Amino acid sequence: MMKLPSSITLCEVGLRDGLQNEKTPFSTERKLWLAKKLVEAGFSVIELGSFMSPKAVPQLADTDELYRQMGESPAELRALIANLKGVERAIACGCRKVKLNVSASRAHNLANLNKTPQESMEGFAACAQAAREAGIALSGSISMPFASPWEEKIPLEDVIAIVDTYLSIGVEEISLSDTSGMAVPSQVYEMCTLMQQRYPQVTWWMHFHNTRGLGIANMMAAMEAGITRFDTSFAGLGGCPFVPGAAGNIATEDVVYLLDRMGISTGINFDAVMEIGKQVTEWVGHPTDSYLLRAGTGMCGEASKH
Ligand code: ZN
Repeated sequence: MMKLPSSITLCEVGLRDGLQNEKTPFSTERKLWLAKKLVEAGFSVIELGSFMSPKAVPQLADTDELYRQMGESPAELRALIANLKGVERAIACGCRKVKLNVSASRAHNLANLNKTPQESMEGFAACAQAAREAGIALSGSISMPFASPWEEKIPLEDVIAIVDTYLSIGVEEISLSDTSGMAVPSQVYEMCTLMQQRYPQVTWWMHFHNTRGLGIANMMAAMEAGITRFDTSFAGLGGCPFVPGAAGNIATEDVVYLLDRMGISTGINFDAVMEIGKQVTEWVGHPTDSYLLRAGTGMCGEASKH
């Protein structure tokens, strides 16, 4: 018997990771529709947007407005930030949860944030203090802990140094993001096992891109290692604009289908995520990277596929 968790928590990151990679920006109205549908579908955690420079990521420039229009929500609505300015915007629009990000790859961090990982982390203490004073919860993510297109191998000490920095400023919820889609299952299993043993106090999230078709395999390996929190994206959208050949996240429809079929509960309604995925595909106007949206469930009598 495979050793798998009985329930999994998913965070829908399509509104952030997905839409930041689309040429055509979605209107605030469409984002609001999607966010509400996601809550109705059963998501308890949603990444609503980011507070990056609107010049760098124009697609998400209206994240503040989206928070204002969402108002109170039963779901945790988190936003990605890079610096103190992000915390200030979160406070101003009523966002209650922010996520810091740094890359374990020096070259990636320079491309993404124009800072070395060390320079990024130096600003984190001030972010954490400002967030804490405002009652905003804080989490952290580490991009490219497995591999990067620039460095052959990311030294484990570099990942550990970032985790230690997060812990030193009171961040105990940490995401490992395979932004470049270069991780393989054996490596994921080993990293997840090691990190959980070394840091039992940390709540771990995994964030896999399906760039080389290994996203779901990596998720399975992480589940076998005992990880129960994963990011997914509607219609499999996503990708970092600064990573060569970047492709989307593991698709929400595919992951919910997989977990449903394996009897692992998510609290998320499969039909509802299919409806959302179809709408997203229509709005982006190009084929997307979701097996279930393409193939359907294969059951006779299923409603029309797109
Ligand atoms: Zn991503």
